[in-house]
Amino acid sequence: MYIRRMNNQAARSAPPARLPGRLDREFRTMERMVDIWCRDQHGVDTRHDGPCDECRAFLAYARRRLEKCPYGTDKPTCAKCPIHCYKRAQREQAREIMRYAGPRMTLSHPWLSLMHLVDKVRKVEHPMEARRRKS
Ligand code: SF4
Ligand SMILES: [Zn+2]
Repeated sequence: MYIRRMNNQAARSAPPARLPGRLDREFRTMERMVDIWCRDQHGVDTRHDGPCDECRAFLAYARRRLEKCPYGTDKPTCAKCPIHCYKRAQREQAREIMRYAGPRMTLSHPWLSLMHLVDKVRKVEHPMEARRRKS
């Protein structure tokens, strides 16, 4: 499969501004998972070059979703979210990446992996319910 790769200079350009609180950790977890996926499934040396264009586009999409998440820093894991703001294609892409990279994160990034598990067991309330409860 032909994969267009970012050149090294672009891959090493300044990282985007940090997201607030838990959103930042969630995005870093997603970045690590995409690195694992892209390295193994797309044959990219992600440590050196960063992910391929396709994976980079997915990460940019995931980041935009996080920035607009109606839960803000109280967000559940996307897999447990009753809203599911991802488009169908990206949702399927996220599922595939997590199914593959999730178990592999336990060894390479135990802390992020553990925190993701903790987030998974948090109770999820729809934002509308939360608003009703508070009013
Ligand atoms: S799927 Fe749910 S939790 Fe994930 S970003 Fe979208 S609204 Fe937020
Ligand atoms: Zn890739």
